[in-house]
Amino acid sequence: MSRQVRHILGLSGGKDSTALAVFMRQQHPDLPMEYFFCDTHKELQETYDYLDRIEARLGIKIMRLSADRSFDHWLAIHGGYLPSPRQRWCTEQMKIKPLEEFIGTDQAISYIGIRADENRDGYISTKKNIKPVYPFKENNLVKADIIRLLEDSGIGMPDYYRWRSRSGCYFCFFQRKYEWVMLAQEHPDLFAQAVEYEQNHSDGRTYTWTQGETLLELLARKDEIIADHERLMAREQRTKPNQPLAEVLESVLDEEEETLPCLACHL
Ligand code: SF4
Repeated sequence: MSRQVRHILGLSGGKDSTALAVFMRQQHPDLPMEYFFCDTHKELQETYDYLDRIEARLGIKIMRLSADRSFDHWLAIHGGYLPSPRQRWCTEQMKIKPLEEFIGTDQAISYIGIRADENRDGYISTKKNIKPVYPFKENNLVKADIIRLLEDSGIGMPDYYRWRSRSGCYFCFFQRKYEWVMLAQEHPDLFAQAVEYEQNHSDGRTYTWTQGETLLELLARKDEIIADHERLMAREQRTKPNQPLAEVLESVLDEEEETLPCLACHL
């Protein structure tokens, strides 16, 4: 007897995957969608709060998936080398494997919130039984539509959007310099833990989350980083005066981008 195809939608705690959950609830309320979140246990409290808000507003249950072993375990296995854009073992171990275990050998359709105005690919499982689909692309929905979906649903944006434009681990190496400075301000305890990860090696080595400087060196340049950020924000607001603040922030932070982040974590 053939098993039914499963419908899955991964929430990252970011705006696009959340808007996709809203969209799918509106357009296909009868679809037996399975919502999930791969928890690295290193996320911001704001992300966990946002997931609770999504569940309450949409009346859905979001399954929390976790890797069998912790981030610290995998860090030790990797000899203390912090993950980086070129060594994304964290995504593989903490986000992708738990999903693949959750699906097993079942046939599944995976709904992915890449927008029509984005030119990037989502995480596409190498597993042949997981078929990705892109409802925003198919329906030509762009960023303004996503923001409207979130506002109309009453969910809104995640609280961290005041200072950070992406979900993911508090120490994510995809953070921009301004976001690190703001992490130190908003969550000094988490910033201190990220510093610990750089320094705390038995042989005295130091690794850095960002290229070329330690977090403490970066924080020492805080005034300069904030001033640069404010200058870019003002320029962006002058160029596009009617943009919501969250969009201005995102555009400015994206300018600093060197490598596109992984969508398993940040969509
Ligand atoms: S959010 Fe960043 S640090 Fe966390 S698993 Fe994803 S890529 Fe790695």
